[in-house]
Amino acid sequence: MKKLEVLIVGGGPIGLACGIESQKSNLDYLIVEKGVLTNSIFHYPSNMTFFSTSEKLEMANIPFMSIANKPTRTEALEYYRRIVKHYKLKINLYEEVKSLEKVEGGFRVSTSKDEYYTEKLILATGFYDLPNKMNVPGEDLPKVSHYYKEPWPYIGQKIIVVGGGNSAVDVALETWRKGADVTMVVMKPTIDQTVKYWVLPDIENRIKEGSIKAHFNTTIKSIEKSTVTISTPEGELTLENDFVLAMTGYRPNFALLDQLGVELSLDERKRPCLDGNSQESNVPGLYLAGVVCGGLNTREFFIENTIVHAESIIGDIVKKKTLQAQ
Ligand SMILES: Cc1cc2nc3c(=O)[nH]c(=O)nc-3n(C[C@H](O)[C@H](O)[C@H](O)COP(=O)(O)OP(=O)(O)OC[C@H]3O[C@@H](n4cnc5c(N)ncnc54)[C@H](O)[C@@H]3O)c2cc1C
Repeated sequence: MKKLEVLIVGGGPIGLACGIESQKSNLDYLIVEKGVLTNSIFHYPSNMTFFSTSEKLEMANIPFMSIANKPTRTEALEYYRRIVKHYKLKINLYEEVKSLEKVEGGFRVSTSKDEYYTEKLILATGFYDLPNKMNVPGEDLPKVSHYYKEPWPYIGQKIIVVGGGNSAVDVALETWRKGADVTMVVMKPTIDQTVKYWVLPDIENRIKEGSIKAHFNTTIKSIEKSTVTISTPEGELTLENDFVLAMTGYRPNFALLDQLGVELSLDERKRPCLDGNSQESNVPGLYLAGVVCGGLNTREFFIENTIVHAESIIGDIVKKKTLQAQ
């Protein structure tokens, strides 16, 4: 079994930030990532633009160059690749952490490829792996997806976009511009008014002129092979349909947290209970970093306001190591 001082689960922006801080403090660390480097960002829509400016996403004093002030997904992928190269970060890709066990003085970590003993464990697993399900009949049909990549498969197709937030709006506009017949199904009375300020007028005007159809205060009732039935304030309506793109958000995977007995808040947010200064959980030696810390409230945390977790966590680990050595 390989021995480490710190094992970091997740090679997203915050896992990488934890790796950099570990390296600066000369800790024996390893980042383990189940997919490609910055796997969540890799799986975002191909043409996605961040809502943050590149300056706000910068980490470890490395400038983030982008053509416009807000970077694209591709620019972000390249930025994080260069960071890993620059710092020569120790990271294993395509290695999934399968199980965690608390043992004397640390943790036993089993992955798809290896076994580790680590004194400290950092979970930076994000929230992009599990979509929020609509829980309606037909949701598992092949024409339904909770992820979106590119507009090309939808040319000339009747598509329903579920949701009224940033992702749904981006999908509706991009597919409509490539010739899809788009209907939005929005649970709330309007498009979310926090949608990116340069995109909001575009979607509202397309809906007003009737180019993109929208049903507000409406939910999906059921999905059939070539139709979708929706519940509108005026009653049920059945629409012809080829594809459903359910942009209903995502939730953190709590399975690894449950294995170690991490306490979650009792309210509907299910936020992990952490020490606000060190990010240490109720399980000594187990730290949480990045957007996973928001629980089901996935809007609370993003890259900009969680990069600081890396310094807090590694600062605490180093402080405890120093005290132990005295
Ligand atoms: C469409 C979209 C746009 C966004 N735009 C912005 C923005 O403009 N600005 C901003 O600040 N934030 C933005 N966010 C939020 C931000 O991009 C993400 O929340 C960010 O990636 C969070 O970083 P993270 O390191 O905490 O988690 P993630 O980037 O999700 O990284 C978690 C990593 O853990 C890995 N992992 C999970 N489970 C395991 C396991 N068992 N074993 C090994 N590896 C595992 C995953 O594969 C993933 O790579 C956006 C999010 C979305 C969905």
